[in-house]
Amino acid sequence: MAKKKPIAIVVHGGAGPDSEHIHKNKKGYEEGLREAVDTGYKILEEGGSAVDAVEAAVKKLEDNPLFNAGRGSALNANGEVEMDAAIMRGSDQSSGAVALIRNIRNPISLAKAVMMNTKYRFLGDMGALEYAKQLDIRLEPSSYFITEHQYDAFSKKREEEFTSSDRIGMDQLNARMHGTVGAVALDQEGMVAAATSTGGTENKKMGRIGDSCIIGVGCYANNKTCAISGTGDGELLMKNIIAYDISALMEYKGLTLQKACETVVLERTHKQEGDVGVIGVDAAGHIAMVFNSDRMHRGWKTNSRQQGIEIYDKK
Ligand code: ASP
Repeated sequence: MAKKKPIAIVVHGGAGPDSEHIHKNKKGYEEGLREAVDTGYKILEEGGSAVDAVEAAVKKLEDNPLFNAGRGSALNANGEVEMDAAIMRGSDQSSGAVALIRNIRNPISLAKAVMMNTKYRFLGDMGALEYAKQLDIRLEPSSYFITEHQYDAFSKKREEEFTSSDRIGMDQLNARMHGTVGAVALDQEGMVAAATSTGGTENKKMGRIGDSCIIGVGCYANNKTCAISGTGDGELLMKNIIAYDISALMEYKGLTLQKACETVVLERTHKQEGDVGVIGVDAAGHIAMVFNSDRMHRGWKTNSRQQGIEIYDKK
């Protein structure tokens, strides 16, 4: 009998500190992760591409108001939503990214359109919106994206800012509420892909762009090595070029996916500098989920009987 070709999908819903909100909504988070995993896995099982699988999984999480991407995005310091997203295909290193976008229901689909249909790799702000309007990409009014939870978090920070005796600086006000989403997958053709989408950090300065949409940082895919989606403190991920560093350790040093993720996230990045989490898959179907924070929402499924949903560290 011919050996079964490996397929695998891993998704994340952000790495960061624990919170009351997470405990209260644990079931909802788990259901959301499961739905994303199942959606992507079905595509892979039916012979679909890794790119389509990661897009579909991320769309589910963008539509779910519990996660900080699409609907439910964190608000910036002006109380508005500005989203970033990127997608990358491991077979030829094609990629598409969008930054500072508003009113796009599924930023990941716009990133995919940039990858598939344009000669560019990165569109930002109004130009990205203009482009979306030319395509069949669904738009929503600004109110669609703002959930009660994010509005309360925004108001609370505002309140703190105005009442604090020693006026908290913008940096300290910066978000600790990571909920960025991402997916990595391996399809039956042996192709890997990665996708990441976010509302960014809570109370971020208007115009701030995070790691999620930066190829090599919050998103990377290369059939020779792995596909990676990252989450955590964006500025720290950018400092350490997280996703590409993992791939480079595999390519140039021969590290396994798991070892490369651990080296970058647990050894090279210092916990005291901030939160970092990654999910990864390689062309042989190995998967990895490594984070230095209290929790990373994650879900996975492979055809070698690995399957699960977790939020906290098992240890
Ligand atoms: N990395 C994201 C950003 O900095 C936030 C997150 O992962 O929660 O925009």
